[in-house]
Amino acid sequence: MTFDLLGLDPRILRKIKHLNFNEPTEIQKNTIPLAISGKDILASSKTGSGKTLAFILPILQRMYKSKPFKKRDARVLIVAPTRELARQIFAQLRLFISGTPYDAALILGGENFNDQEKQLRNKDPMIVIGTPGRIVDHINHRSLFLDGLEMLILDEADRIMDLGFKKEVEMINHEADHRKRQTLFFSATLDDPEIKILASEILNSPKEIILEKSE
Ligand code: ADP
Ligand code: MG
Repeated sequence: MTFDLLGLDPRILRKIKHLNFNEPTEIQKNTIPLAISGKDILASSKTGSGKTLAFILPILQRMYKSKPFKKRDARVLIVAPTRELARQIFAQLRLFISGTPYDAALILGGENFNDQEKQLRNKDPMIVIGTPGRIVDHINHRSLFLDGLEMLILDEADRIMDLGFKKEVEMINHEADHRKRQTLFFSATLDDPEIKILASEILNSPKEIILEKSE
């Protein structure tokens, strides 16, 4: 099976080809069509199974399909447990948004807050990627607004919980609380009941794609 059958915009398919990805992984095959249709998703598959593209491609699809508008609110927020992981996601995303009008900002804990604030205020990035504590700091500082958020993505939710960021995620969820919002929830495992509780708090009638043991 190729990427062509997943319902992606031809411009995205060209990028995929250009970046030499030939075939979607199992989690990508299962997640992408549902995500594109606007459903909330609870997805679990082992590390290395390609979860990053399973949310980056639906983000791009939404960017391409939605009308451009100038507004300070972020449209897409990706929450990652660690700086390292946030950087990796940012790097992957950049490959896909280079040459498009869309911009992304990376906001990490432990790095200069004022620089990030300037970036958020001046660039009006459509997509924001960050670590939970720093995202909350920017919300409190009123340099990040989630009133217009269309997509919330939690990556490695199990690690987010392990690192003690439940409160931060709940605060982000509360700040971006609208009917229209789509939420994608990714985890390597759903073994911890706390993760399921968190998922039930932030997802709205999600489709479950659980491949953790079978891949
Ligand atoms: P996970 O988040 O599930 O741990 P990643 O998204 O980090 O996995 O992907 C693991 C590796 O697989 C990365 O190097 C990524 O570039 C690669 N990869 C992802 N999707 C594909 C694909 N469809 N074909 C080939 N390689 C892929
Ligand atoms: Mg991952």
